[in-house]
Amino acid sequence: MTIPRAVKYAVIGAGVHGLSTAFHLAQMLKARGRGSGEDIVVLDKTSVGAGASGIACGVVRNNYFQPAMRELMAQCVEVWESDPEAFSYHPVGYMQISPECMHEDVASIYDQQRAIGYESVFIEGADASARYMKGLFDDWQARGITSVLHEKRGGYANNRASMLGLAAKAEAEGVRVLSGVEVLGFEFGSNSNAVTGLATSHGSIACEVVVVGAGPWVNNIWNLLDLPKRITVKGRDGRLHTDVPMWKFWCLEEGTLGIDPNLHKTNDGRFPPVIHVDTDAPLYSDIDGSLITDELWGIYYKPDFNFGGIQGGASPYKVEQDPDKVAVDPYGPESPDFIVGDNFVNMWCSALAHCQKRFEGKVAHYKREEKSGGLGCFTPDNFPVFDTFRENVYVIADSNHGYKMIGVGKLVAQELLGEKSALLQPFRFSRFEKGELHPTSHSPFPWS
Ligand SMILES: Cc1cc2nc3c(=O)[nH]c(=O)nc-3n(C[C@H](O)[C@H](O)[C@H](O)COP(=O)(O)OP(=O)(O)OC[C@H]3O[C@@H](n4cnc5c(N)ncnc54)[C@H](O)[C@@H]3O)c2cc1C
Repeated sequence: MTIPRAVKYAVIGAGVHGLSTAFHLAQMLKARGRGSGEDIVVLDKTSVGAGASGIACGVVRNNYFQPAMRELMAQCVEVWESDPEAFSYHPVGYMQISPECMHEDVASIYDQQRAIGYESVFIEGADASARYMKGLFDDWQARGITSVLHEKRGGYANNRASMLGLAAKAEAEGVRVLSGVEVLGFEFGSNSNAVTGLATSHGSIACEVVVVGAGPWVNNIWNLLDLPKRITVKGRDGRLHTDVPMWKFWCLEEGTLGIDPNLHKTNDGRFPPVIHVDTDAPLYSDIDGSLITDELWGIYYKPDFNFGGIQGGASPYKVEQDPDKVAVDPYGPESPDFIVGDNFVNMWCSALAHCQKRFEGKVAHYKREEKSGGLGCFTPDNFPVFDTFRENVYVIADSNHGYKMIGVGKLVAQELLGEKSALLQPFRFSRFEKGELHPTSHSPFPWS
């Protein structure tokens, strides 16, 4: 393989962020007469979609308690809607179905969705919620539900297919997407902090601007850039917390119930919205009736022909290890450590049965032969960092929110061309020290 010895823009990672940035930057360079896709190279140590973007459940939603996240997600949904075919995008909508302890949070999400013109319906009260859900699915039986937020936009996309679609769009603009090229280090200028080149598995590449879209490998790239492993965070209590680890890992738990996806349709025969249920009703095993949990729990699911069944997941768990010692490779289903086990299968299948009668007694159909799950790398407040480091390195670290964030690359491309984005502003690294943290909700998920 021949790789360029010099390039203006070097993008590390062919996942959603690297590819989206490359595609949009190529378009903008051409439109402004400032260059073209030929000025951009995307390098991936494995291949397109080899990271989190290639194994993601693929859910695209607006439902976020944090105003800055919600506004950004509305822009991202527009990008998904701009070319559903190329992005393998299914605009079926999304439902957040919640217990009383989340009622107020979700009501504020609905109010703010109305304020930004994002179409949704909000149902309040136990009886009204049950009626609304039974209107969609006559076998609905989830307990402990007092509100339903039904987002009419959003839905899901097919993980690898959408990445291949995005790569094809970037390549059609002249971007080179090179697989099997690993970035091993950075070369720095003698008079500045800036990066002047990349040391790769195939030799050095001089570059003027670097974009990092390394997903769960961001801690590794961060270390190679010699950025701080521990930082100061001004907490919500107003106090400065020093020595806070910059990165931590969580393991996402997802899987597929191997039944015909056509079995999960609405009463009127349509494919349903993505369903997300959180509840504090006790969850009992669908296998032996034993109590699984009497604390707040949550699941999400959708019928998905790409996965061959009903696919979804539950809350992730925190990986209690020094981030430098976590084995990110081999990634995803290939990992010996970070894949789901029996506890997840029992919990998730029982939770499906808790929600809809059609899933009762189906645990034997769970696809145990297909390994699933994967690592995500999170920031101190579990929200993204989009910022420039060392003068010319743009780091896109989405804190595992990001398959749905296909529009971030478009905004990053604008910033690379000198136009600051108000939507990205709340995600600067300096927010930690300034204490400008995003609000947290009562959801059991670290990303809501
Ligand atoms: C199981 C699971 C389910 C998820 N479900 C959803 C979901 O439903 N909706 C949602 O919005 N988000 C979801 N996420 C989160 C989402 O997938 C990620 O936030 C997002 O895909 C990250 O995109 P990325 O482009 O930053 O990184 P990635 O897609 O991980 O791409 C990074 C790429 O960088 C390459 N790379 C790494 N290091 C180097 C190096 N040194 N040199 C060259 N290349 C390198 C890797 O090979 C990889 O291809 C999920 C995550 C997981 C793990």
